Amino acid sequence: MENCLFCKIIGGQIPGDFVFKDDRVVAFKDIHPMAPLHVLIVPREHISSLADIIEAKAGLVAYMVTVANKLAKQNGVADRGYRLVINTGPEGGQVVQHLHMHLLGGKPLDGKLG
Ligand code: AMP
Ligand code: ZN
Repeated sequence: MENCLFCKIIGGQIPGDFVFKDDRVVAFKDIHPMAPLHVLIVPREHISSLADIIEAKAGLVAYMVTVANKLAKQNGVADRGYRLVINTGPEGGQVVQHLHMHLLGGKPLDGKLG
């Protein structure tokens, strides 16, 4: 997908601080971390938003959760707790139009959701 920031990071045209890669998903550090651990879990396939997830693709989102869980464990926050966030659409706070899941952890997170 041309002009998509995350497609460019996945494709290597823009640098990313990768912490995980496989054939379906990559994960890299958020450039403006909101917590000591702030990683974005991103499918290689360009899907604009969670709102575009149809039943046939639901497994991909579940897989993103398993990657996030693995990274949480690797980073020592699995037992302390962490937060997974998928901002969706303008009022959901989505800025980059390529599906991604935030993994946040390493400090007590604000309990507020909005
Ligand atoms: P969202 O608001 O859910 O669309 O989140 C987009 C996230 O991408 C924000 O947390 C940004 O800090 C992050 N971001 C933007 N540009 C980059 C980049 N070049 N590398 C890593 N993360 C980025
Ligand atoms: Zn993309």
